[in-house]
Amino acid sequence: LFVVFEGGEGAGKSTQLRALAERLRERGRDVVVTREPGATGVGERIRSLVLDNAGAEAPSPRAEALLYAADRAHHVATVVRPALVRGAVVISDRYVDSSLAYQGAGRTLPVQEVSWLSSWATGGLKPDLVVLLDVDPHTGLSRVESRNAGADRLETESVAFHERVRYAFLDLAAADPKRYLVLDASRPVEEIADAVARRVEEFLVD
Ligand code: C5P
Repeated sequence: LFVVFEGGEGAGKSTQLRALAERLRERGRDVVVTREPGATGVGERIRSLVLDNAGAEAPSPRAEALLYAADRAHHVATVVRPALVRGAVVISDRYVDSSLAYQGAGRTLPVQEVSWLSSWATGGLKPDLVVLLDVDPHTGLSRVESRNAGADRLETESVAFHERVRYAFLDLAAADPKRYLVLDASRPVEEIADAVARRVEEFLVD
């Protein structure tokens, strides 16, 4: 079972990801928690290329898209597929939809092309479930600001950029409702965790 959490800055993905992993482990499941970008050694280096804000030169939009795709290709080949093959539940913080939303809608690259690039990178591996934590950019950005004050480059993008990202996520969910669980990220943490767990349960009845 492959579950992905998506959402804008400050949506609370990491909290929810940990909560789900904990619940599944309590039930004796083998769980692999992972993320993009940066889950592997190669990925960590790519992550600092695309996100470090220490005055480094920002990659151009196409270069950025290729770097995220490279991170994803390596992540899928070395972490996600092997775990799925041994029967683990894989929970990833971000996946293909982040590229469609950030590099596509955000950076205004053609979404169809970004989608091809991701399918090539992943060999077509799709998640069984995408949990979209929907957050208004004003709320989300103020949450991250209080946490790490602009530590990554994306947090300095305009609100309009983050609005495009938000609506791209919502459009992806609307186009394939069976694969998505869309939740309002401003709801209480426990309530969100319960809703996620209930949906994941449906996949695990055996
Ligand atoms: O979720 P996390 O905060 O680790 O994401 C790191 C940063 O990378 C975020 O600012 C996110 O917006 C950005 N990102 C991106 N394109 C992707 C994946 C992440 O711009 N495909």
